[in-house]
Amino acid sequence: MTIHSSDSTTRTLEEYRLARQLGLLIDGKWVEATSDSTSVVVNPATGLPLANIANASVADVDAAVQAARSARESWRRVSPAQRTHLLWKLSELIENDIDYLSVLEVLNQGKTLDLARGLDVMGSVETLRYYSGWATKLNGTTNRISAADERPGGSIGEAYHAFSTLEPVGVVAAVVPWNVPLVMAISKLAPALVAGCTVVLKPAVETPLTTLRLGQLIIEAGFPPGVVNIVTGGGDIGAALVGHPGIDKVAFTGSTATGRSIAATAGQSLKRVTLELGGKSPLIVFNDADLEQAAQSAAWSIFLNAGQMCFATSRLLVQKDVREQVIARVCEIAGELKIGSGLDSEAELGPVISERQRARVLSYIDSAVQSGAEMLIGGAQVPSNGFFVAPTVLSVEDPAARIMQEEVFGPVLAVSTFETEEEAIRLANNTEYGLAASLWTQDLARAHTVASSIEAGTVWVNCNVVLDESQPFTGWKQSGLGIEGSRSGVEEYVQPRAVVIAT
Ligand code: NAD
Repeated sequence: MTIHSSDSTTRTLEEYRLARQLGLLIDGKWVEATSDSTSVVVNPATGLPLANIANASVADVDAAVQAARSARESWRRVSPAQRTHLLWKLSELIENDIDYLSVLEVLNQGKTLDLARGLDVMGSVETLRYYSGWATKLNGTTNRISAADERPGGSIGEAYHAFSTLEPVGVVAAVVPWNVPLVMAISKLAPALVAGCTVVLKPAVETPLTTLRLGQLIIEAGFPPGVVNIVTGGGDIGAALVGHPGIDKVAFTGSTATGRSIAATAGQSLKRVTLELGGKSPLIVFNDADLEQAAQSAAWSIFLNAGQMCFATSRLLVQKDVREQVIARVCEIAGELKIGSGLDSEAELGPVISERQRARVLSYIDSAVQSGAEMLIGGAQVPSNGFFVAPTVLSVEDPAARIMQEEVFGPVLAVSTFETEEEAIRLANNTEYGLAASLWTQDLARAHTVASSIEAGTVWVNCNVVLDESQPFTGWKQSGLGIEGSRSGVEEYVQPRAVVIAT
């Protein structure tokens, strides 16, 4: 099979299999796993095997953690300016590799090529570049002691010289999911590395290929051995890594259920945790909104990456008097989507990640319909090979219905109506999640009132999925713990040391 990934690049599928021979990255070298166990990586657009990947053993996890611990000193000796250069160098290597990396991601994850190029590859490049500058700006403070010096003749604050420094938390276990593998890996690595931490990274067992390629680029960029280690395997290996006594902090993105289990494990030894978890985000359309823009946004958000985005606005809440207009337009867009392999330049909706995920999404649709939801569009013919799900829009009036409460992680939109602003806010907040919300209205006062009443880490007004590293990204309620992005995101990887010197 020949793949044309851009006008200038043509490769054979065999070249994309390179990643399967790499093994594990431990202490700057590719090593074979000590277990014989492997996992088959499948192309979700065909259902066919793509590669065979090593499953690390617990002993391999231990070796990776030990390498990361040993590398702490060498990484500490790398100056902040050199760290900036290394991260920037890595961003350049990734950008130069965009054709290869993006096709590899499409083959492994199933998303469309445009999305892989823009979100996965350029998103990773921009994230690295944003964080690279923080390496030289992470300073503590000098502090004037606030209380009076009680000694005879003492005055306020002059008896002590007090300051704080920001120290790396140590070795980070970075555990990431399969929906945007490269960006997820980079969003952990970049702040951890600028803060002076070393890392053991575990990609999802379904999507290790771009992470393994990233390992090659990390070596090429010149990071000291052991600063970044990569182990592949399933949830058991994730659990072994998280529970390892040599890990100081866990940076996790994935489901809320796994997040809870990680928090429980980490709690036993008081490891720090950052958890970016699931969502059931609302998109709220008021009757004064630009209805065309709102409908396009609703469709785009839920069908992007086949609905496998944590911040996808999977609940559409529409004011009653514009319901028909908005729904008709969303269904029209859904009906026109071209479904197919992400490598097909016409395709707008790719497959979901696995047969298991397809079965899960379809069972949510079935159970919603059985519980009284009306299917407005869905069930269209999809390619028979691969794990495709037709775009689906369901009208659901029961706010307690499973489809309104639980994360489906597929191209399935649940629509409900409201009459008043208060009702819209109540419905929007009526889930255990609190990741994001998108709000559509031309009324500035209403935009402020509703935005400030939504229980979510991010609220977009008259826009959707505008993500930028300058902004803190955080899940409220069951959507997470801790912050990614902005200075706050880097501070998750440092701990202050307060020093007080008597003068
Ligand atoms: P998952 O929780 O099943 O797996 C995520 C990662 O954790 C994988 O690498 C997996 O191998 C590992 N893992 C599984 N069990 C583990 C355990 N007990 N201990 C340690 N590691 C373990 O999630 P998924 O199905 O791969 O990803 C989809 C989920 O990710 C969705 O819920 C989605 O909302 C969420 N997500 C959240 C964000 C965010 O920023 N909030 C971003 C993307 C995805």
